[in-house]
Parts: sequence; C-alpha cells; structure tokens
Amino acid sequence: MAQEYDIIIIGGGPAGLSAGLYAARSKAKTLILEHGKWGGQAATTEELENYPGSIEQPTGPEITARMKKQAEEFGAETKVEAVTKVELKGDIKTVATENGEYRSKTVIIATGAKPRLMGIPGELELRGKGVSYCATCDADFFTDLNVAVIGGGDSAIQEALYLTKFAEKVTVIHRRDELRAAKTLQDKAFANEKIDFIWDSVPVEIMGDGIVERLKLKNKKTGEISEIEADGVFIFVGYDPVSDLVKDLVETDERGYIITDEEMRTSMDGVFAAGDVRKKMLRQVVTAAADGAIAAVAAEHYMAEKFE
Ligand code: NAP
Repeated sequence: MAQEYDIIIIGGGPAGLSAGLYAARSKAKTLILEHGKWGGQAATTEELENYPGSIEQPTGPEITARMKKQAEEFGAETKVEAVTKVELKGDIKTVATENGEYRSKTVIIATGAKPRLMGIPGELELRGKGVSYCATCDADFFTDLNVAVIGGGDSAIQEALYLTKFAEKVTVIHRRDELRAAKTLQDKAFANEKIDFIWDSVPVEIMGDGIVERLKLKNKKTGEISEIEADGVFIFVGYDPVSDLVKDLVETDERGYIITDEEMRTSMDGVFAAGDVRKKMLRQVVTAAADGAIAAVAAEHYMAEKFE
C-alpha cells in the first residue's frame, strides 16, 4: 500500500524546506523528497549576505541545515529519494521514487535550477578535473593557483570573490564590457587586487592533458583568438530549471520554467510550484522561501475546499 500524504514536496532547497515548515505547522501530513544534498544551491553558497537576518553571515550550508531541522521539528517527514515519475491528474496524485510509490492530495514542485553548461570542447572531459560549477565545493583545490571564472552575473562575481580567499589570481572572463552583477558585488570585485578582468571575450575551448591547463578565448569584438593559462575554470553562465519531470504535465515557458499564479498554483489542480523552478523575476533564497510558504498555504486552502 502506498503511503498517503496531504502534501508532498519535491525538492529540499529553501523553497521546499520553507513549504515543508508551513505545511507541517498547519498539521498537514507532509513529506519532503530530496534526491541529493539538502539545501539546494543555497547550500553551495558560502555567504548568504542578502538573506534578511543573516548580517553576521551564516553560511548557506548552516542556514539551510537549520531550515531542514525546523521543518522536521514541526513534523515534516524528510527522505532522500529520487523521484522518477509523477502522476498529477485527478484528486489523488502519485509520486514514484526509486523506492516505491507515495500518494498525496497535493504536490509542491520545488526542484530548483541547475548550472547551465557552456557546451564547449573540454568542458565535459575536464569536469571535476579543473572544471567546476561550485566555488564553495571546490575552491580549496585551487589554493595558490590561477583560476578563471566565466560569466558576469551575481553568481560569477560572488564566487570570484570567494575564490580569492584561496587562489593566487582570479581572472573573470565576461562576454561584454560591463558586468550584470549587483553594484555592491561589482564594487567589491573591482577593489579586489586578486581579480583581473578580460572583457568582450568567451572561452571557446578548455584545454589540458587530463587536467585543466589552458583556456582558449575569442574576443567577440575583434574575433581574435588567444590562450591564457589556468589551473581551474569555474563556469557561472546562468541556470536552467529542473522541470523535466513535470514539463509535459504543467504549463511552462519556453525555457522550461513552471508558470504559476501568485498563489503558486500551476495549470494542474492541486499542483503548486515554488522557488527557482518557477517563472519569476527574482531568484533568491528570500523569494524561494516566500514561494514555499505561499505554496503550502495555498495547498491548505485547496484541500479545505476540495476534500472537506
Ligand atoms: P545570470 O544572472 O543569468 O548571469 C549569467 C552570466 O553569464 C551573465 O553575465 C551572462 O552574460 C553570462 N553568460 C550567459 N551565457 C553565456 C555564454 N554562453 N557565454 C558566456 N557568458 C554567458 O546568472 P547567475 O549569475 O547565475 O544568477 C542567476 C540568478 O540568481 C539571478 O537572478 C541572480 O540575481 C541570482 N543570484 C543572486 C545572488 C546574490 O544575490 N548574491 C547570487 C547568485 C545568484 P550577459 O551579462 O552578457 O547576459
């Protein structure tokens, strides 16, 4: 017999954990499923300096661990299981994992987003051998070495700043001549002596014999090709939604982000989405946590109307 829940939340980042907290506090029978590491991308961020209340900079792993503990203390069940299939039509939804099947009156999709690949030669071959998408995870492998950071957004600049605590030199390579990142991050990066910038350029190949050694660059304005030496390449060129599981079942935009209304309702009755997987203007821990809270309360309202 499949176990039955009121609310199943898929994804254990800030959106899912916040949904779990609100769901469990309202006494809904709640299960949060996470396929990998709890805390989502926030757990791979060393300094969450723009999450309200984190002025003394609790790190991403610490604050997300507390979010999980808090949801559990109010009664949310948490399991590390990869969801393999969902059936979302009808009053009772089915969520299948590698370990079995769960049934639920509502489902909240909080599967987040994953780093976008550049798709250049050498990237996949040298992944984990100098190519990385997570400075918090890998920075200390590059102590006193030279690293390149690709991208000009918040992620690239925040992670470049973090890398300066370890690396000898950090070269930010950006495809335009101005950064997209928030002004406060830009100011810090420009003031940091360890950070250099290469403007108007994109990497076209990551090179090395079993380990990253060099990067081939193309200047987008002049077409000129050049090479720089690098022991590591950190790629932060944006994120893609993790919505494969549901993208044929609920309405998404052209990039796969799930479309919801203000109450986090998707196009499918009883199915909600929260956090970075959702089409929205601002993807931050604070907005993910807010989405999760709204989704859980909206799921409560839906159940009250539908089942009572
Ligand atoms: P993003 O804002 O989409 O920035 C991606 C960067 O990569 C841009 O500078 C973009 O260049 C560049 N890029 C994209 N495709 C490229 C390609 N094929 N080749 C070379 N460069 C490429 O992504 P993000 O920085 O990961 O941020 C994602 C979201 O998370 C944003 O909403 C961001 O505000 C948020 N975030 C916030 C914080 C924070 O508040 N501290 C930290 C991390 C992330 P262009 O600028 O030319 O488009």
